Amino acid sequence: MTSLPPSFKPRQFDIAVVGAGLTGKACALGLAQLGLSVAHIAPAQNQPLPEPESGHWGQRIYAFSPSTQTLLKKIQIWDALELSRLQVVREMRIFGDRNGPQDQLHFSAFEAGTPQLAWIGEANLIEKTLDQASRFQNKLEHIDALVKQLEFADTQVKLILDNQAEISVKLVVGADGARSFIRDLTGITVKQAEYQQSAVVANWLCEYPHLETAYQWFLGNGDILAMLPLPGKQVSMVWSTSTQNAATLLSLNEASWAAQFADVAHGAVDATLGSLRLNSEPAAFPLSKIRAAQMIGPALNPQVVLVGDAAHVMHPLAGQGLNLGLRDVASLLQVLEKRESFRQINDPILLRRYERQRQGDTSALLWVTDRLKKLFSAQSSFEQGLRNWGLGFVNRSHLLKRRLIHQALGETHFE
Ligand SMILES: Cc1cc2nc3c(=O)[nH]c(=O)nc-3n(C[C@H](O)[C@H](O)[C@H](O)COP(=O)(O)OP(=O)(O)OC[C@H]3O[C@@H](n4cnc5c(N)ncnc54)[C@H](O)[C@@H]3O)c2cc1C
Repeated sequence: MTSLPPSFKPRQFDIAVVGAGLTGKACALGLAQLGLSVAHIAPAQNQPLPEPESGHWGQRIYAFSPSTQTLLKKIQIWDALELSRLQVVREMRIFGDRNGPQDQLHFSAFEAGTPQLAWIGEANLIEKTLDQASRFQNKLEHIDALVKQLEFADTQVKLILDNQAEISVKLVVGADGARSFIRDLTGITVKQAEYQQSAVVANWLCEYPHLETAYQWFLGNGDILAMLPLPGKQVSMVWSTSTQNAATLLSLNEASWAAQFADVAHGAVDATLGSLRLNSEPAAFPLSKIRAAQMIGPALNPQVVLVGDAAHVMHPLAGQGLNLGLRDVASLLQVLEKRESFRQINDPILLRRYERQRQGDTSALLWVTDRLKKLFSAQSSFEQGLRNWGLGFVNRSHLLKRRLIHQALGETHFE
């Protein structure tokens, strides 16, 4: 990391990527690999990332879709990952809240004609590998700072940092998460709704093998409980529940957790995974839905693009937020890589191309996750009947199932 002295004069880069989450890191590396000079601006992380090689498993466990694998292969990260830390998912089983034998949806990689439906792994496994690759990329400079201000000129943007340093670039990528400051400074508005829910996450050692299967139970009161397989006899739990119940869950001891699992989903958690032993400190994350009105800005002369949670945040029930963000990155890389030789990287036509490419995928996923969340929270017996019948109906429809699988795989043409 470079710490810039206060008297630092504006330096020129092609692009500034702001934010060092997974999307920011992947984007900065990918852009530098295209031969563009990149300033990657983000405050140094307070805590070092836990070593993926240690006996502990990180708290942030994600489902990675094949579209994420495609991007990570393109930027030469996938093959450098410690694959023993990734669990392949070959089956997904989703259960309704009525306990009817037909109220379930089953996806299988075999049926879909794909080797796996997803991988489950730690965010920091990928972050570490991205950090290592970035150190060898001489077009990429890390700047340990926060962005305080943006000044837009005709073809350049000046970024004023909190260490008083200034840098000048043609294009800014806002990868600074749900509360994106870059989005605000660019004047891009958002539509936002709080779900009044938090996701409680924890890793558990399970008695029975998980059979490379991701399980999800809709619990009827708006709660959704997912158990995602990890290597060995271990699962990662994501339990979306009311903010109040999340606080209760966080205070449970192991015996009370066991009672909870015996109680929920008509005992199916116990029956499927056997007894569970806590293998990480539970944590809770508040859940909301955010959609930026535009993915590029300012309106008249766009010089900023948004990627990842800066552009869209969704309910984690489909495990797709990060995958969608990395598809933004893949799309931006493709648009810039394939640009006509006479176009600058901040040509509004290119930026609009990027925004157009991302529209359909983003709208579809935000819509589907939000509708599912609402349908499974509704209390009327009509909606209860509808959602449970719907699961069985989709399960019996080969065509619908295939479409859903291919949407979830995030099949793209970004190669
Ligand atoms: C419980 C839960 C489970 C989830 N599970 C999945 C899953 O299984 N699969 C999946 O695909 N997605 C999942 N998601 C979604 C996923 O967590 C997010 O979509 C993803 O982390 C967003 O990454 P990001 O890089 O866009 O933003 P972030 O990870 O929020 O990173 C933003 C970065 O910007 C930095 N920053 C902020 N402000 C500034 C500034 N002014 N200047 C410089 N830097 C700044 C921050 O320090 C941070 O490093 C889940 C979410 C939750 C809550």
